[in-house]
Amino acid sequence: EETRQLLLSRIRDVADYPEPGVMFKDITPLLADPGAFRALTTALADDCRRMGATKIVGLEARGFILAAPVAVTAGIGFIPVRKAGKLPGATLSQSYELEYGTAEVEVHAEDLAAGDRVAVIDDVLATGGTALAAVELIRRAGAEVAGVSVLMELGFLDGRARLEKMLHGAPLGAL
Ligand code: 5GP
Repeated sequence: EETRQLLLSRIRDVADYPEPGVMFKDITPLLADPGAFRALTTALADDCRRMGATKIVGLEARGFILAAPVAVTAGIGFIPVRKAGKLPGATLSQSYELEYGTAEVEVHAEDLAAGDRVAVIDDVLATGGTALAAVELIRRAGAEVAGVSVLMELGFLDGRARLEKMLHGAPLGAL
């Protein structure tokens, strides 16, 4: 609980970003505080161990910042899920709906395989669309989703309900 309060105190609300009416959760103050960043890394790495994860997927871009130190701390491999067109090798890709239009994410096909238990890490869960696309990619690669851990969820969007339906009992962790 003390850790939770520390971490929450390092997330800044920015009004009207990226567009009017949106309250953006800015995690850069947390990243700039090494004690808070370490506490978050430790907590997320503990989540991944509890899940029995054998790989960690980070979601571009802020998810990368969190997932990379977690992977090193937990001693398991880091796999990037990137926006379309960024990965050089053979990829699986998954498109998903945005408020306006669609987006597409990709993973290197060879990075995930049957037998892998994969933890998904991102900073913020909003509608759940991004995390859901990652879950689809992991399953299409033949791997299993061990769980999803985010720094925080925006409770007024029903991202959790949407995602939990697709997690088949795997945990969804948030601050
Ligand atoms: P979703 O797909 O769940 O609607 O949106 C989640 C994705 O958008 C995450 O990758 C997250 O980084 C980004 N995102 C959406 N809203 C916010 C926000 O308020 N703060 C931050 N840091 N990221 C956000």
